[in-house]
Amino acid sequence: MAYDVVIVGGGLVGAALARALRGAAVGLVAQVRPSLPGAAFDSRIYAISPGNARFLAAQQAWQRMPEARLTPVHGMRVHGDDGRAVLEFDAYDAGVSELAWIVEDGVLQEALWQGLLSQDRLDVVDGLRCEGLALGDGLAAVALSDGRHLEASLVVGADGAQSSVREHAGLSADAVPYGQTAVVANFACANPHRNVALQWFQGGPILALLPLPGNHVSMVWSTAEAAAERLLGLAPQQLALEVEGASQGALGELSVVTAARGFPLLRMFARRLVAPRVALAGDAAHVVHPLAGQGVNLGFHDARDLAQVLRDREPGRDPGDLRLLRRYERARAEDILAMRATVQGLFGLFDARGAAAGWLRNTGLRAVNGLSAVKNLLMRQAMN
Ligand SMILES: Cc1cc2nc3c(=O)[nH]c(=O)nc-3n(C[C@H](O)[C@H](O)[C@H](O)COP(=O)(O)OP(=O)(O)OC[C@H]3O[C@@H](n4cnc5c(N)ncnc54)[C@H](O)[C@@H]3O)c2cc1C
Repeated sequence: MAYDVVIVGGGLVGAALARALRGAAVGLVAQVRPSLPGAAFDSRIYAISPGNARFLAAQQAWQRMPEARLTPVHGMRVHGDDGRAVLEFDAYDAGVSELAWIVEDGVLQEALWQGLLSQDRLDVVDGLRCEGLALGDGLAAVALSDGRHLEASLVVGADGAQSSVREHAGLSADAVPYGQTAVVANFACANPHRNVALQWFQGGPILALLPLPGNHVSMVWSTAEAAAERLLGLAPQQLALEVEGASQGALGELSVVTAARGFPLLRMFARRLVAPRVALAGDAAHVVHPLAGQGVNLGFHDARDLAQVLRDREPGRDPGDLRLLRRYERARAEDILAMRATVQGLFGLFDARGAAAGWLRNTGLRAVNGLSAVKNLLMRQAMN
């Protein structure tokens, strides 16, 4: 049997796209099935925009997550590196109930997968990899690691930064390592976080403490590879002391509740999102620095727009037709370019050495903080 769509990659973006394509004949090649979330907090967390929370609710995933594991973000405080410049965002001032939600990776994956397992016309092929792709006039064929082939009108590469679909389809990408590793860990804190996300630009490194349920926070500390290695080698009490110092004691005494892990950081953009019978989505198409917490948010937007283009196509129209797929590419172009410029601009500005650069970034942060119209614009962009 030939599918309408075969999705390669069962991460958050592939799983969300499979849900959004309900009704179509879909094959999902998932190398690994997510393990059940435990009682302990996952150290991989995401800030999910309110717009994507609505998208995930439409996929019946949001409502499957236990409320006790969802944390609304009511405020955000970004500190410059001169010890004085601060940029603050507040949900109340913006007239919204929350700026974002913090969710754990395992909890969100599980919620998406619960829906997938009972979805009509969906075949999940798990435990296998895509090892090749043949693109014919009428159909594409995905070669699986057990020697089988899956045929489809359209193959979507949602297989992450090292996408095999991107490579097999000959879609080139520009990839540059940031030279940083993100160290993540969760802490209990003595002072209440009051649902405020905190971030410190440290002249290169960037530390974020994001609220988790109760008196817990999740850390993402993006720092030079050697510094990250050192942090990852510290005993839990030493790590807690170091983070307490770097966060200027903002949350009082900290203690580690989930051990530290490291993620090397890369910037990557595919030059094209589509080819005949192929489309890319999520990290297979673009990888951005976690400083703005927007990577998976961009990927969910890809899934939203691709599903919409496929749903809205004329009756009888081939889902793998390049002219149709270009509608998807056009729909995503502006958003991806804007995010690329914002994240790269912020990273470059705060990474730059020298007194002039330091003056510019901290003055800029203070100036933006005084301009409520600009702040509202930035907030609206991040909340989609
Ligand atoms: C420290 C850190 C913090 C972050 N915080 C945020 C945040 O707050 N908000 C946010 O929006 N984003 C955040 N991100 C970005 C986010 O993690 C990614 O954008 C997101 O996980 C990408 O999802 P994906 O499904 O596209 O790719 P992946 O999560 O990489 O999933 C790809 C899947 O494809 C599978 N696969 C790979 N190759 C094959 C193959 N050949 N055959 C079959 N399957 C294959 C893999 O096993 C995997 O399951 C953060 C990233 C980091 C590193």
